Amino acid sequence: MPSGQLDFIPAVGTADFSPAQAQWLTLANRLGRERFAPRAATWDREASFPFANYDDLREAGLLALCVPRAFGGAGADFATYCMVGAEIGRFCGATALTYNMHICSTMWTGVLSDGIDMTPAQRDEHQARRELHFARVVRDGAVYAQPFSEGSAAAAGKAPFGTTARKVDGGWVLNGRKIFASLSGAADYYGILCTEDRGDQHPDMRDTLYIAVPGRADGLTVTGDWDPMGMRGTVSRTLLLKDVFVPDHEQLMPRGVYYRAAQTWPAMFFTLSPTYLGVAQAAYDFTVQYLRGEVPGQPPVKRRMYPTKQIAVAQMRIQLETMRSIFWRAIHEAKPNPSKDERLRLYAAHYTVMEGANDIARLAIRTCGGQSMLKDLPLERLYRDSRCGALMLPWTAELILDRMGRETLYESGERDE
Ligand SMILES: Cc1cc2nc3c(=O)[nH]c(=O)nc-3n(C[C@H](O)[C@H](O)[C@H](O)COP(=O)(O)OP(=O)(O)OC[C@H]3O[C@@H](n4cnc5c(N)ncnc54)[C@H](O)[C@@H]3O)c2cc1C
Repeated sequence: MPSGQLDFIPAVGTADFSPAQAQWLTLANRLGRERFAPRAATWDREASFPFANYDDLREAGLLALCVPRAFGGAGADFATYCMVGAEIGRFCGATALTYNMHICSTMWTGVLSDGIDMTPAQRDEHQARRELHFARVVRDGAVYAQPFSEGSAAAAGKAPFGTTARKVDGGWVLNGRKIFASLSGAADYYGILCTEDRGDQHPDMRDTLYIAVPGRADGLTVTGDWDPMGMRGTVSRTLLLKDVFVPDHEQLMPRGVYYRAAQTWPAMFFTLSPTYLGVAQAAYDFTVQYLRGEVPGQPPVKRRMYPTKQIAVAQMRIQLETMRSIFWRAIHEAKPNPSKDERLRLYAAHYTVMEGANDIARLAIRTCGGQSMLKDLPLERLYRDSRCGALMLPWTAELILDRMGRETLYESGERDE
């Protein structure tokens, strides 16, 4: 066996996995190879949601991967999810990216919330509400989405969300608009980030609320076209919320806690990168197979004898190993209140993976050549999908450079005259 307990090399590379990690990785790899990879071209061509993959994820228990054991889930930690997410991304980027939105809905309310300061009353409230939310996932196989983006500075963490929630008897009334809502029309619940409307016209980021809106709620509509360049199976359309009432128990975090969570647990935003490590691995895997003349269904033409191809593969491998190493370190350092050094490394890891995925896909196309980018092969899809990672808020590649430079040169509270 090439990697300890595994008989394959996972996207995160070989390592000493715990028995549970080995089990989840094996499952993700098998589902990916046998089910997700053969279907990936269909979702991409149709820009349709991978419902069949979700049936498989549900049946395999993967929807409850990060639901704590006390609530009937598998209780996987942050690092384990990141390993599994990368393995799924290797076979279907759109499935991995949307799975991330679902998993985060359980991880933020689960293991992440456990590391956030709450008053005893908030802790009790949270415990009761998450029990309901976890039961939906464990018992009913419900799927959650995470539509935060609004086309403003809010999803970048620089302004309050424009979507508002007004307190009324027994619940909340939501109004607003979310763009790029992956799983639109497919999710059972949408975990909406919005600002509490206190009626004083002074929206404040500290008043951010995190509330689940059922997919069938009155006043919720999915609108807009969806014909993007990449990650087409995510079906990330626009959600309109017009006087949507939800009862109190749909609050996924108590008032004020989301803002604290975002400050305390920066790695909560790193979870988009496993998908793209998987996409990079897939581009690398394809290139090796193609140059060896071993792509199923293709003529067995070998191209491996050219030194330039060998150099390109070596460059891809160096980049992949760099990505894997910093990714591995970051997922194991993830915790509440990381040190400045750990936080800067986390940003660097995210940037390295997001930009590196596209670089590897670019090199793959260049070295495999024209025939490799025909639509009956996966490489051109991987190339398009790989482009999307660095665009995702709050940690786009640009915003990471911005944060890293500023946070390196300025200590908290420091200003120039
Ligand atoms: C495939 C896919 C799936 C997605 N799924 C989801 C989802 O499920 N949920 C969700 O909430 N969002 C989702 N998004 C949206 C994503 O996270 C971003 O919100 C979206 O790509 C931003 O697009 P925009 O054109 O509005 O960016 P803009 O806000 O116009 O920003 C453009 C660029 O400017 C830079 N920028 C933005 N704000 C600042 C600033 N304050 N300072 C300096 N630079 C800045 C950034 O680099 C950004 O990339 C998805 C995106 C993609 C591509």
